[in-house]
Amino acid sequence: MSLKEEKIWLSSPHMGGMEQRFVKEAFDTNWIAPLGPNVNEFENSIRDYVNEDVHVAALSSGTGAIHLALSILGVSSGDEVLCQSFTFSASANPITYLGATPVFVDSEKDTWNISPVLLREAIVDRIAKGKKPKAIVAVHLYGMPYKINEINKVAKEFNIPIIEDSAEALGSNVNGVKCGSFGDIGIFSFNGNKIITTSGGGALVTKNVEIKNKAIFLATQARDEAPHYEHSSIGYNYRMSNVLAGIGRGQMLVLDDRVSARRSNYQFYYDNLNEFAEIEFLDEPENYYSNRWLSCILTPSFEIREKIRLALLEVNVESRPLWKPMHLQPIFKENPRYTDGTSDVLFQRGLCLPSGSNLSKKDLTKVINVIKSQIV
Ligand SMILES: *Cc1c(COP(=O)(O)O)cnc(C)c1O
Repeated sequence: MSLKEEKIWLSSPHMGGMEQRFVKEAFDTNWIAPLGPNVNEFENSIRDYVNEDVHVAALSSGTGAIHLALSILGVSSGDEVLCQSFTFSASANPITYLGATPVFVDSEKDTWNISPVLLREAIVDRIAKGKKPKAIVAVHLYGMPYKINEINKVAKEFNIPIIEDSAEALGSNVNGVKCGSFGDIGIFSFNGNKIITTSGGGALVTKNVEIKNKAIFLATQARDEAPHYEHSSIGYNYRMSNVLAGIGRGQMLVLDDRVSARRSNYQFYYDNLNEFAEIEFLDEPENYYSNRWLSCILTPSFEIREKIRLALLEVNVESRPLWKPMHLQPIFKENPRYTDGTSDVLFQRGLCLPSGSNLSKKDLTKVINVIKSQIV
């Protein structure tokens, strides 16, 4: 690897400028705690952005938000939860924290997200085998919304709640309705690599105020009403720090700019590479709006994908294969799965390109030139 060339990252943090003012406010007022004005204001700004009907609980991570969501929906030991297989492991891991079993469902080709057909097949089969799944974890992967209407229809038919994993999809929408507001419970992540960040953090979003209150109760050690510490359920320490929420407040001010910048990255790659038969892109279905958290391409084969990835690495450019599906992960090799090979192919042939909102035209041009050099 050439050390002379400055690294181009896959997706790096991009501060807006106001973050430090809100962090300083936390110091000036001594709200150095997992509660305080920044936490409240950050929650309000997420609500105002997503949908005025939602209630928001700011938490320490997206993973924690999924854990609480599952717990609130009553998932417990011995239960089964349906989960999109093509995702990051944090969509599935919290299911196991509760002693439940993830049952994996493959993707469809239009959005790369959970297939409504396989989801229905899975539900029918699990019920026939004696267990009705307790919940569905559906994911807007890379910011592309899943098939909202079709998935909701299946969930409704069997009366199974949906946890909408919007960790990668803050700023995406369908028909103008923002991601995070479609499921019974939605979750966001503010990890360092996401579209906006608090360095680490997450949020739980719901239209049901009782679910929000329950989330905050569980996230703050499940203290019952009493002058002493009284507990009638198991709690967690999952609330967001008021210092980090200050970063979040600053980031919310520039969220729309970050979405535009990521979408421009995608458009630039598309405009410059779409003419080549070797490179395929994932178009937005009608009325779908992706935040294009990561720009992804599909190559003709694993070999060509690797050739491109290694050529990029050679000039200090970070790229990454698409998520390895959960049903192919060693830790989940015994789990039930309903698959048709779709995500296996995506994993073999797909590559995430540098996608940060802070990349320059020069950076993007460099990426394009390396890719072209490997295919023509
Ligand atoms: C990042 C991510 C999470 C987990 O969020 P953290 O804040 O990192 O815990 C969950 N699901 C998906 C799809 C993610 O990309």
